[in-house]
Amino acid sequence: MIDKRNFYINGAWVAPIDGADFPVINPATEEAYAVISLGGTVDAEAAITAAHRAFPTWSMTTPQERAGYLKALLAAYEAKSNEMATSISTEMGAPIDMSIAEQASAGKSHLKAFLRALDSFEWSKPIRPGMEGQDLVHEAAGVAALITPWNWPMNQVVLKVGAALAAGCTMVLKPSEIAPMSSVLFAEMVHEAGLPAGVFNMVNGDGDGVGTILSSHPNIDVVSFTGSTRAGILISKAAANTVKTVSLELGGKSPNLVFDDTNIQAAVSRGASFCFANTGQSCNAATRMLVERSAYEKAVEVAAATAEATKVDIPSKRGDHIGPLVSEAQFNKVQSLIQTGIDEGARIVAGGVGRPEGLNRGWFVKPTVFADARPDMTIMREEIFGPVLAMMPFDTEEEAIELANDTPYGLAAYIQTGSNERARRVAARLRAGMIQVNGSGRASGSPFGGFKQSGVGREGGVWGIEEFLEIKSISGIVGD
Ligand code: NAD
Repeated sequence: MIDKRNFYINGAWVAPIDGADFPVINPATEEAYAVISLGGTVDAEAAITAAHRAFPTWSMTTPQERAGYLKALLAAYEAKSNEMATSISTEMGAPIDMSIAEQASAGKSHLKAFLRALDSFEWSKPIRPGMEGQDLVHEAAGVAALITPWNWPMNQVVLKVGAALAAGCTMVLKPSEIAPMSSVLFAEMVHEAGLPAGVFNMVNGDGDGVGTILSSHPNIDVVSFTGSTRAGILISKAAANTVKTVSLELGGKSPNLVFDDTNIQAAVSRGASFCFANTGQSCNAATRMLVERSAYEKAVEVAAATAEATKVDIPSKRGDHIGPLVSEAQFNKVQSLIQTGIDEGARIVAGGVGRPEGLNRGWFVKPTVFADARPDMTIMREEIFGPVLAMMPFDTEEEAIELANDTPYGLAAYIQTGSNERARRVAARLRAGMIQVNGSGRASGSPFGGFKQSGVGREGGVWGIEEFLEIKSISGIVGD
């Protein structure tokens, strides 16, 4: 059993003071392989105090000095990138090749994007060009609490830590207690990068414990959270009493609009595969496929065939399969939502309840496709967070837009069409923070985040850094 009970506070690994042991479970074997500690009030406060004390000095460093530390962190990360991929794969079940190519590499790519953003960021400028004595200054917002989930652990941790460091904030990271091992390794990298003591601190814990202390503590100025809408609402309420800046990256139920003026085989197989990727555990997964009626039956066939062709296997095996879900709770939730889809009358064309053949241990599920879903069905409204696609037809572009926007979420939306004119017209009317057309990827450093109940704020690149900055206006300094 690996022992990672210690926390990283004030530049050193320290034993928990009022923590409780918590097992880390490998989702492919259902067995505990490590133990961490869930911190208590004293542990969380020690980390907050360290960050609070480090703030005055760290926030006054120059952007060039901070870029130097970010470069050192990037070098430490690159040196252990494969170890990071294995750590993520073991704790949350991402297959190893995917973990190397996407999960672990996301951390490197975000650090590089923050370095690029730092290069050209204007920290101080006149309020209007040429105006004397009216200055606008950006400066670090204060001590940040960073609370992250288990589905893209390093993607989410680095989006927050990298931005907070670049901005000049000090911080306390509380990673997901379900996938904490990659963050322990990350804290080791931060240590190797030689950051001044207290700038970065990490305390493991759960939402009710460390999570709540961080989001309500008077010495925390900014909370940056990624995870469920449920927890995001609780965090916002806890933060309100001390008027913190809160940024939230929450759930989604993103639509994929498929028009019949495109290659249906290519568009639908790409869309279904994207929905199943990371075993459906991505906030921006394209889970509602809306297809123009003339192409609908063909699209259903293609999606079902894509699900059947999607291999499910153990994470340690090389290849392009998908792995298990992260936990028993997630397995039970996905099973129950698949059953609800059946009970509410959607037509199941691939997958279903139960484990895939030959995988009797581990939280493995079958890639599943529902056709003839209706907008009011649970599978069209709730974030399932499993490899489950729901499909329905539409007749007009207007109806497609209405259906796409008929959700409390607004994270991402996807458009498949052969017409740029249509793509622009539809993109302008979709209420979502990120629109991707015809399978296009997003440039590194693009703003990640959503409208409506998908969150508040943006992460990544310059927009991510701005989440950790205050704006100050200074009037009256004229001349040198
Ligand atoms: P969660 O939102 O409960 O947990 C995410 C993080 O928030 C963890 O670090 C957790 O300890 C912390 N947390 C939980 N409650 C908190 C509170 N009251 N105060 C402060 N911190 C708190 O997510 P989960 O329970 O792991 O998963 C539940 C559902 O959330 C999933 O089924 C999925 O639908 C959704 N989810 C979404 C994302 C996303 O990226 N949008 C990520 C993970 C989970």
